[in-house]
Amino acid sequence: MSTATTIIIFYKYVQISDPKTFVALQREMCEKLGLLGRILIATEGINGTLEGATESIAEYEAWMHTLPEFAGLWFKSSPGTGDAFKKLVVKLRTEIVATGLSKEQDLDPNVTTGKHIDPDELKRWIENGEEFEIIDMRNDYEYAVGHFANSKNSTMANFRDLPKIAAKFEGLKKKKVLTVCTYGVRCEKASGFLKQEGFEDVYQLNGGIGTYMKQFPGEDFLGSLYVFDRRMTEQFTDKYMVIGECTACGSKTERFGNCAWHECHKQLLICFNCAKHAKGIWCNDDCMVGAASGVPIR
Ligand SMILES: [Zn+2]
Ligand SMILES: [Zn+2]
Repeated sequence: MSTATTIIIFYKYVQISDPKTFVALQREMCEKLGLLGRILIATEGINGTLEGATESIAEYEAWMHTLPEFAGLWFKSSPGTGDAFKKLVVKLRTEIVATGLSKEQDLDPNVTTGKHIDPDELKRWIENGEEFEIIDMRNDYEYAVGHFANSKNSTMANFRDLPKIAAKFEGLKKKKVLTVCTYGVRCEKASGFLKQEGFEDVYQLNGGIGTYMKQFPGEDFLGSLYVFDRRMTEQFTDKYMVIGECTACGSKTERFGNCAWHECHKQLLICFNCAKHAKGIWCNDDCMVGAASGVPIR
């Protein structure tokens, strides 16, 4: 038997009428197949990432495809490491990605969302020198370790900052804009939100940055792709340039640590050398002062 493992990422916005039962069903199937990872379920859909033996993952995918609402579900897969996740978490949530949108702002991506374009199409846009702007919908620490050349950083600390970005990119309302994120799920609502806020020409990258990188390794995207498991980053070629910079010393690194202010604990790029020798590294002076005074400043 092969010991190779595979990691899959998948999502779908689709009405789930009995999410509680679906949580139990998913947990049962994952446990039976020995899969680890994280699945979030809400009445609006499912969002998951799992690792398991390659044949068990194939079995999971085949099972999901037998469920009518997930018949065509797209599983984005990568080679596993065998220890990408410590445990299995299957949770019931109100949203499959926490957006920070109010009830009035929230939307159904099946109704309101940016036009999906495939990596091929984006490649054409880039090669033809088309006029458009890429807005990266990921968090600032994800952007720091890798991003599309000339893309705009939304500078979100967390995706719950989404409501704030419309004002930030006000100047792009009449421009052609493309939203990007890791494997696509955040763009479903982020691009829809921009449309709702009056952005006129909004697209989203189908399958996300990971799918683009897989198809065009080492091209157009600089650095590495941040991923939410113990791999921390994902690469699709050895020929790439590290663009991440240590928060403390500025040297090139892809190593993540955390802000030393316990109330913050935000992920930061911290090189091996600084991690070993520095007493504490903070996001900024506010966090350093916070750590010294012990008073929460947020
Ligand atoms: Zn350093
Ligand atoms: Zn901090």
